[in-house]
Amino acid sequence: MTPKETNDARPKLLLCRPDFYGVQYVINPWMEGNIGRADPNKARAQWDGLVETLSQHADLEFIEPVDGLPDMVFTANCGLLVNDTFIPSRMRYAERRGETPYFVEWFRDHGYEIASLGGEGAFEGEGDGLLQLGEPLLWSGYGVRTSLQSYAAVNEVLDLRIHLLRLVDERFYHLDTCFCPLPGGRVVYYPDALHPESRDIIHKVIKPEDRIEVSTEDALNFACNAVVLGGRYVCNRATDDLRSRLAEWGFEVEMCPVTEFMLSGGAAKCLVLRLDHAVPAASTETETIALELCETEVEIQGDLLDTGLLTRVLDEIVDDGGSFEIRDFEAGLRADQYSACELSVYAPSRAHLDRILARLLALGVRVRGEENDASLQPVLKPGVAPAAFYSTTIYPTEVRVAGSWIPVVRQRMDAAIVVDESVDPAAATCRIIRDLKEGERVVCGAEGIRIHTAAESSSHEAFEFMGAGASSERRVEGIIESIAWDMDRIRERNGKIVVVAGPVVVHTGGAPHLAKLIAGGYVQALLGGNAIAVHDIERALYGTSLGVDMERGINVLGGHRHHLDAINFIRDHGSIRDAVDQGVLNSGVMYECVKHNVPFSLAGSIRDDGPLPETKMDLVAAQAEYAELLNGADLILMLASMLHAIGVGNMTPAGVRLICVDINPAVVTKLADRGSLESVGVVTDVGSFLSLLSRRLIPS
Ligand code: NAD
Repeated sequence: MTPKETNDARPKLLLCRPDFYGVQYVINPWMEGNIGRADPNKARAQWDGLVETLSQHADLEFIEPVDGLPDMVFTANCGLLVNDTFIPSRMRYAERRGETPYFVEWFRDHGYEIASLGGEGAFEGEGDGLLQLGEPLLWSGYGVRTSLQSYAAVNEVLDLRIHLLRLVDERFYHLDTCFCPLPGGRVVYYPDALHPESRDIIHKVIKPEDRIEVSTEDALNFACNAVVLGGRYVCNRATDDLRSRLAEWGFEVEMCPVTEFMLSGGAAKCLVLRLDHAVPAASTETETIALELCETEVEIQGDLLDTGLLTRVLDEIVDDGGSFEIRDFEAGLRADQYSACELSVYAPSRAHLDRILARLLALGVRVRGEENDASLQPVLKPGVAPAAFYSTTIYPTEVRVAGSWIPVVRQRMDAAIVVDESVDPAAATCRIIRDLKEGERVVCGAEGIRIHTAAESSSHEAFEFMGAGASSERRVEGIIESIAWDMDRIRERNGKIVVVAGPVVVHTGGAPHLAKLIAGGYVQALLGGNAIAVHDIERALYGTSLGVDMERGINVLGGHRHHLDAINFIRDHGSIRDAVDQGVLNSGVMYECVKHNVPFSLAGSIRDDGPLPETKMDLVAAQAEYAELLNGADLILMLASMLHAIGVGNMTPAGVRLICVDINPAVVTKLADRGSLESVGVVTDVGSFLSLLSRRLIPS
């Protein structure tokens, strides 16, 4: 079956002779390295070939080229024409802005109505706005050239359904480089150029049998950049496979090589603007779907420039497919002066906007204007949060309930906030998803939430001498001094220090030093896995760690089974506690914990031997025990255990001093880089670290 055009008349196209065409600047990846490399004669010959082919199926009009505007030849980018209304483009790059007045003049002279677009965002015409032939539907590309908010303005002018598609590959900078709508509700497109959420939109709107997903080879040959005229599909090149698939739909592919224009990133379709887009009016109520595009005004103040915070805010918006417009900016002109910024944030839907706002809140951004209560939704299934639940950060958070701001308790990362209005005042608590109970009300979206980030925190100056960051060997002694100073003060005021330790503590000779700190009252809880306890007990019983003699540093005959013997020994005596009570375990980290009533939690893992009787192999129970022991901690010392340190980091609110000691800078950076100034990373050998720390705290 040959597809039918929406109107029986011959299609009408606008082109521009390539008299002044050339690659003269770089505004897309195709142009890189190609300045001055387009051959004018070859370009002209290819363009003539295209014109020859098109003129067999369409009536052609020509706009006079202008010297100094090399890309004017790509007429598709000049604007969007729907019925008799021409919306001129607002080019993203200054290099192309000079083209627009010439096109406006041409359309005015030819009797078209000129509609100017509201707002100020970039809009690149039929490069990004593609009409589905015969339907009141505009596929709308954004993310590289055209800005998201421009489609709100397009929506004001045109009565069309608008489906927003986010471009994610700079090589496919306009939607028409990777997406081609065909009559009969069909499309040809290159999925990898689009964000997965945009691919989902296409999947929802177009049935599988009406979609062709082209290969990378076809995409890079600009096979999607096609001029569709009745049953003809005119493009630069297409593989046999694509041609035969299009043939099944009744399209004959006509290949017109336009490689000289591809040096600029454009091909057949870019060189053509359709002048006869007769778009039917939306016929039923359901056909006119208002554009969902959402906008919220936000503000942020602080050290926006010198800390790069503003850049992070803007990146968060754009990286997640949103857009922004800065409404007001007041620069801090001195080092001691804050900057302030007000901006509009745009996203393709409310849920998407909430997702972006949730991340902005964590950077200290506030939603402006009338404050609303947090939106609460009930838990319908135990252990399952409402889909739009707000996911927490480590920072102190408040939620607005019945007009009042209430602080959230048990702050931690990656949890939901449960609000209990049955008490007065209402209470808000962080709760991990699996612990949610049916009927509990959970904060959803991003409204009515306030976060106090490190940027605003008054502890900024106090901890500056130990600001976030990883330290190398050279600074270790200085850092130990400041950690020790802090640990002394915490002990004096009966505060809480939690140690998270891995077996490397024992292997590196750190166990006696850690044991000394426990005995000296510097540790109020110990968190680890099976291994720290196994190797500590091995050392206490046999003087080895993983079979290595701790005094002489050599492998002991038969030592390879010492850790198993240690496990067996403890199991024989009941438990670690029982072994200490029975007087058969007399030294080491675990011994001091039992002796000094320091609670410990050993979380199991897949690689555990034994395990020891106290090791919790039920991880949910282990996480709960960790959380309990971490509650109220003033300082957490993480010693060479990536697994447990990261787990603990997620459970810990901002404001708790976090000291991460590891030989691997990547582990330290991951933990210290929580945006919280109370975190410090020390890249060093944990045995030496503990030795220095214990000597400083307990000199005898
Ligand atoms: P991990 O990989 O999570 O952490 C080890 C960390 O120590 C790494 O980040 C590494 O960079 C660091 N490190 C290595 N040498 C160091 C040094 N000299 N100084 C400072 N840092 C150093 O591994 P893990 O915490 O040892 O173990 C993960 C899990 O496996 C735990 O649950 C543990 O109990 C279990 N495990 C069990 C057994 C056993 O049952 N016998 C043995 C080993 C591990």
